[in-house]
Amino acid sequence: MNRRAIMNRRAMVQGALGGVLGLTLTPFVRSAFSQESPAVIPVSEGFVMLTGAGGNILVRTGSTGQVLVDSGAAGFTDAVLARLRKLPGEGRVTTLFNTHWHRDQVGGNFAFGQSEATIIAHEKTRARLATDYYLGVEDRYEKALPKAAHPTVTLFSGDKTLAGKERIDYGQLIEAHTDGDIYVFFRDANVLAAGDAISPLKDPVLDWFGGGWLGGRADSQEKLLKLCDDKTRIVPSYGPVVGRAELQAELDLTRELFDRMLALVKKGMSAQEMLDAGVMKGLSRTFRDPFKFAYDAYKGYWAHHNSLGPEVL
Ligand SMILES: [Zn+2]
Repeated sequence: MNRRAIMNRRAMVQGALGGVLGLTLTPFVRSAFSQESPAVIPVSEGFVMLTGAGGNILVRTGSTGQVLVDSGAAGFTDAVLARLRKLPGEGRVTTLFNTHWHRDQVGGNFAFGQSEATIIAHEKTRARLATDYYLGVEDRYEKALPKAAHPTVTLFSGDKTLAGKERIDYGQLIEAHTDGDIYVFFRDANVLAAGDAISPLKDPVLDWFGGGWLGGRADSQEKLLKLCDDKTRIVPSYGPVVGRAELQAELDLTRELFDRMLALVKKGMSAQEMLDAGVMKGLSRTFRDPFKFAYDAYKGYWAHHNSLGPEVL
């Protein structure tokens, strides 16, 4: 990513956070914005978020060691480590979760794996990081990461609870964005990491070639909503911390898009034909690149054509 893009992203994050936090911005938050990436954003008692290092990194700080959800993009690892050293726990990471396998989320895995953190992820995330895989959009192979960067504890389906003093639940979000999405829920603190299964800032991304689709996204957002109450702090891969109301609004949008597109896909329309028919008009938010979203969603329906019958839906 070039510098201008980074600056734009930073401006967007600042703008979005300013909107959420309004006049309640503390001096600590204001000073965090004036730092170079990654910025440190308070989330809740004992939790901060590092932004501007690829995807957001959620950090549970503490003298017993730090727990991370995602590790940012590889180019920022040294800066991330420097930030972590200044937080309670001083950079001693005991556990790292990966919400999925995109390189903006796993770039620090090698460093944390080498220092013997347990890396927890979906089994498909482990498989993707352990093997070269084809990137259709870029027509190239993404190379496997070294062994130390691979998740060491994986789940294939369902939900789990990490043993320990505090209760940390994590589980599968089936095909919300890729084929390896998980949530991580710090239940005692009521902090929920949702990865790229929600997208409060930028256009939702459906990595159809990597297994994500609109139906999976709707189901996953419903699952996340059931975990939340009005005080839950929800951390996405990109953008600001949000609450239950914002998640509900995004789920309503996802469902609306799912229903509209399903009707048109069943008529045999292409992505461009759906757009021409107004499939994305009058929605609760504006998309920066409607064609990309419509195309990716359309390819996802193709991949699930055998589950679109009325008896299934
Ligand atoms: Zn992603």
